[in-house]
This record gives sequence, structure tokens and C-alpha cells, in this order.
Amino acid sequence: MERLIYQLVEGKCRICGSSTQVMRVTEFNLKVCLSCYPRFFERRIRRTLEKYDMVREGDRVLVALSGGKDSAALLFTLKRLSAHLGFDLFATHFHLNMGDFSDRNLAIVEEQAVRAGVELRVVRIGELGLRISKVKGWKPCAVCGAIKRALMNREARAVGANVLATAHTLEDMLLFAFKNLLSRRHYLPPPVLEPIGDLPKKVKPMMFTSERHTLQYCLLRDIPFFPEKCPTWSPKGHSLKEVFETLERIVPSGKLQLLLSLMEVMPPREEYMWRPTGTCPECGEPTSQPKCPLCQLSEWFSSQQGRESA
Ligand SMILES: [Zn+2]
Ligand SMILES: [Zn+2]
Repeated sequence: MERLIYQLVEGKCRICGSSTQVMRVTEFNLKVCLSCYPRFFERRIRRTLEKYDMVREGDRVLVALSGGKDSAALLFTLKRLSAHLGFDLFATHFHLNMGDFSDRNLAIVEEQAVRAGVELRVVRIGELGLRISKVKGWKPCAVCGAIKRALMNREARAVGANVLATAHTLEDMLLFAFKNLLSRRHYLPPPVLEPIGDLPKKVKPMMFTSERHTLQYCLLRDIPFFPEKCPTWSPKGHSLKEVFETLERIVPSGKLQLLLSLMEVMPPREEYMWRPTGTCPECGEPTSQPKCPLCQLSEWFSSQQGRESA
């Protein structure tokens, strides 16, 4: 099992020189031993934070925890780096009102926050009249995405966070880039989205980190994570990721090189990002529609419920 996940190889650790339990990190074409790996991972994230000026001393940084390995790895890494870089870290979790699944998910998230020593706020979307299901032609995943985006902004304001760190990985970036390319849209999401009005700055510290590495980090740091897939998850939206895995098998470091190349030819552009044009008359949140997504969705759900019980 361990051999499978870590792909142990012959050779010496680049950091400490040890030749026991050495793994190959194909993305960077080097070998690291299992005990040096977590610090190697954290240093990579730190380099990204510094290169793109993602966080500064005195910042208040919020991470939304899904319970999964990626946001867990981000939380624990940022917690370790927060002391060196001088920022404060906060966590939030959205209980998605999906019965036992969401309760089990929350229990893991609470354990993560306690173990990391980070203050956690939990938002239960059921209490906002929301749920994850089809409504007005919106697919459940679109509803979920809209709710999470809106809540992240709201939570950032609630804890006074000026930076929102998201757990987008190398594969997420490539997936976004390829979906765009296949629709002949030639732009990438930027590593940093500067604050707009009331909205916090948004940063992607793990955009050059592959999901295999976040998994290895969680296992080696003994970080608990929620392994279940969302009940509405379907493989269709994610199958493009197989293309990147095939590439990595054929060309070690291919995923990272591909993203770096795409960033050179498809410069990140902010003009395509969502911008609020006013405030919601119901709740005062920034919005680009007559009502904010949360108020709009909760209105749709209550009218849907009204029809169902009529
Ligand atoms: Zn080592
Ligand atoms: Zn509203």
C-alpha cells in the first residue's frame, strides 16, 4: 500500500542525503525521503505564496475546509507558515444539508480544525433555506458552486479576513485551462485576484501542487480527511483529468510544464472574472444580478417547496 502511494525508489534524498524510504517527485524530477517530504511540500507552497505576493505580514487569511485532502493540506501548511510569515489563519466550513453525509463530513472538518489549532466557523446552508439540488434548470453542482462562492465572500467579511485562500490544485488549473481551450476561450484564472470593493483578495497557493502530493502530505503528516465523494458527484466532469495523468506517465513533470507553458501563452486575465455591479436589496451582499445568489436560490427553493406541498 505504502509503496503504491509513495512509489519508493533507490537513491538519495535531495535534502538530507538519506537513502532509506526515498520517493521520486516526478513533477520536479527529484528524490526526497518520506521524513523530509512534508517540509519539502510546505516549502513549495511558501515559494508560491512569496512569488505571487499572495499573503503579507498582518493579513487575515481564510480557508474554506471541504474536509477533503486538498483543503486539509492547505490548512495545515498555511498554519505552519503563518508563524514565519506573520499572518492570522481562520477556517470555515459549509454544512451542505445532505443528511448523514454532511454530518460525517462536518465531524472530520472539526477534527482537522482542532488538530491544526485554527478557529472554525460552520455555516449550515439548511438554516439559510438552501439545499443542493436541481432548481430552475440549474444543476446541483452549479447550485453548490454558487452557494459556496457567495458564502466564502460572506464568511471572509464575518471574520475580517482580507485574503481568501482556495485549494485549487495543479489539476484544477489544467482542467479549467483545457475546458476553456476546448471552447476556444484563451485565458486562465490568475494566481491572485485583487480585492474588488468588499470582496477579499483571492489566492491559489496550491496551483502548482498536484493532488497526489496533497494526498501524500496528509498521509505523512497524519492529517485526517474525508474520503467520500459528494452524492451528486459524477465522473463526467472530471474525466478530462485522465488526460493529464496519461501525460504525466509518458512525460514526467509534464503536468507542471504544461501549466507553466499555458501561463506564458494564455496570460491570466481578470476581466473575465465576476464583478459585482450593486448590492442585494434583501441582504446587502455584493451582486451582479438584481438579487444575490443566496437570496435568489432561497427564493427559488421556497417556491419549489410551496409547489411540491400544494
Ligand atoms: Zn530526507
Ligand atoms: Zn442577498
